[in-house]
Amino acid sequence: MLIDFFKQKHECHHTKVPVDVEEAYCPDCGELIKNSWFLVRCCCCNIKRNAHCEYNQIKPNSKYCPNCGSTDYYIEELDNINFVDIHYAVFKQIIIPQKHFTMRQVWIEKEENLLPLKNLLISKAPS
Ligand SMILES: [Zn+2]
Ligand SMILES: [Zn+2]
Repeated sequence: MLIDFFKQKHECHHTKVPVDVEEAYCPDCGELIKNSWFLVRCCCCNIKRNAHCEYNQIKPNSKYCPNCGSTDYYIEELDNINFVDIHYAVFKQIIIPQKHFTMRQVWIEKEENLLPLKNLLISKAPS
């Protein structure tokens, strides 16, 4: 059931979005993708927990904090990733909702004086 659900969505994995930029448009689906890093920390003792991303949800790898035994954790978004955090941080690509203006693909054919640049400026229709 769950597998069918994911298949039906034809989810784009945005594999062509470079990870070394803050955000970029995915060439496969056209969404604006933000590259984000998250840390999972224990609510009780504040240590960094090893974590992973499961079905788009960030979760600690273990149920209990190895330091204090607490199950409570919080997720912190990082502005910048550094080498200290890279072993703990979870990488996730987030789709930034776009304001789709109701613009349609219209080719303004004005006989011969159509500049090639004008073609590039015409926006694509929202899918
Ligand atoms: Zn995509
Ligand atoms: Zn703890």
